[in-house]
Amino acid sequence: MTVQSSLPLAESDEQPLIGTRSYDAYRRARDVFPDGTTRVTIERDPIPRYVSHGRGAYLFDADGRKFLDLNANFTTLIHGHAFAPVVTALERQLRDGTCFANPTEKEIELAALICGRVPGMERIRFCNSGTEAVMFAIKAARAWTGRPAIAKVEGAYHGAYDWIEVSQASTPATWGSPDEPQSVPYYRGMPTSVLDEVVTLRFNDPQNAVRQIRRHAASLAAIVLDPMPSRAGLIAPDPAFITALQDVAREHKVLIISDEVLNFRQSFQGAAARYGLEPDLYALGKIIGGGLPIGAVAGRACVMEMFDADKKKPAVPQGGTFSANPMSMTAGLAAMQCLDHAAFAHLERLGDKLRARLEQAIERCQVAFSVTGAASLFRIHPKRRPPRDFREAFWSPSEAAVMKEMTRFFAAEWILLPDAAAACLSTAMGEAEIDIIGQVFEQFLSSQAQRLQWEPR
Ligand code: PMP
Repeated sequence: MTVQSSLPLAESDEQPLIGTRSYDAYRRARDVFPDGTTRVTIERDPIPRYVSHGRGAYLFDADGRKFLDLNANFTTLIHGHAFAPVVTALERQLRDGTCFANPTEKEIELAALICGRVPGMERIRFCNSGTEAVMFAIKAARAWTGRPAIAKVEGAYHGAYDWIEVSQASTPATWGSPDEPQSVPYYRGMPTSVLDEVVTLRFNDPQNAVRQIRRHAASLAAIVLDPMPSRAGLIAPDPAFITALQDVAREHKVLIISDEVLNFRQSFQGAAARYGLEPDLYALGKIIGGGLPIGAVAGRACVMEMFDADKKKPAVPQGGTFSANPMSMTAGLAAMQCLDHAAFAHLERLGDKLRARLEQAIERCQVAFSVTGAASLFRIHPKRRPPRDFREAFWSPSEAAVMKEMTRFFAAEWILLPDAAAACLSTAMGEAEIDIIGQVFEQFLSSQAQRLQWEPR
């Protein structure tokens, strides 16, 4: 069975990949948005695909065509689209009011659920996005240490706060020598003072990281680490890298912030627990909002005290008109309550099965491809061996062309595979979806291998 053959609404093979409704919408969008979109991350080939609605593992585009969705709003929808418990809970909350200048009991319930799962999360504060979560975690670390700078991993994406944007999009032309990774500006006009306050580390290079942290320790507030940074390759951290960062941070009283906005979905206790990292602070987002906007900073009670007013001005004031709004709290609570041990075991099983299936296809077709990821996340690389850091994962122009071909091939088979970022599974998926993804990948490898003249393995 293919996705296509199971689709009552799908049209013929000859149909262009993007339908006419999307073209009409995009024409209107270009009159109101710079570049025709309102998020830089929207994929386009050649224009964005406009969506009408989603159900479970599938979404329907504006032309009524059904796709298996491996993006799930950048890994947010761990139960898929329009998850019934979230919909039911939100319908009730909608009638009761969407936001107040007062707290609601819903926020305590969601906070208790999250903190109850992760021992390192002794206190938590909600905000509206992963960007804010990372920003507030950095501010709390600065207030706690009295130091301004941060260290971060080259190529890792952590949202849109200036300091953390540094070296997010380094290239071979800008990234500098392996021993001295450059702090590379992300946008034109980024203040040089920002660049001066960021130390760029290479993922999985413990010696270099330790050397750099020691050199800059006097000004460093925190090391911000996503344990498996998606855009930097979705590569597993070496235990030696984690231990080295942990030890050098303790030695110099630099805090560790685990950015789990994306990777909290890796287990019941998130990603740090999985890789033996003991952070002082965590940044959360995506899945904890059940599909509504959310962010959270959590961590050790003594550091979280930086947000504590205690009748005077807090060290770090943290607010936000929509922070902890009852809609996000309600959706998050419904989604997280359903994300129990059984749900994580299901996701783990599906992910392992899929990664093994993709690797078998690579082996059978003898092409220079590899797969990384863990739990419900995976990334396919046009590389003979799984990359170990951002530089190894970086695509040459010909590799980028191959990956574009692959994304198109998947779309033609009614599967939306994210470009250059983590793809994800959801609890709405089962063995049938895993088989389809595996089949389509193998078809792609065997149909294109000769034409693209890949290097044999
Ligand atoms: N950190 C990480 C690791 C992320 O993946 C993201 C979003 N993809 C962010 C932070 C920013 O989150 P948001 O888009 O909600 O601002």
